[in-house]
Amino acid sequence: MVRCPKCDVDIGHSYQEADPSVGIMSGGWFCEACDLPVGDHEVDRSSDDDVPIGPAHIPGGPIGTPSSQISGRPGQPGFEEFKRIARTWGYD
Ligand SMILES: [Zn+2]
Repeated sequence: MVRCPKCDVDIGHSYQEADPSVGIMSGGWFCEACDLPVGDHEVDRSSDDDVPIGPAHIPGGPIGTPSSQISGRPGQPGFEEFKRIARTWGYD
């Protein structure tokens, strides 16, 4: 969904592709209520961006557990912690 930065109405249906033959040099949306063209780069789509995934963002893992304290290798310090967390994922 794309919202007008001014009145916050949904303008997702108004998307126009770039068409240099009629003077539209870049794609974007248009808010009829505000008479406002909204360019591709003006829309906040940060929520679509990739969420960083790393050892510190293990789903179900304890928040704030440093990845250095988790090890997937038997015999390493942190392996017990790894197994405990892995168990919460449904592995055993
Ligand atoms: Zn608007």
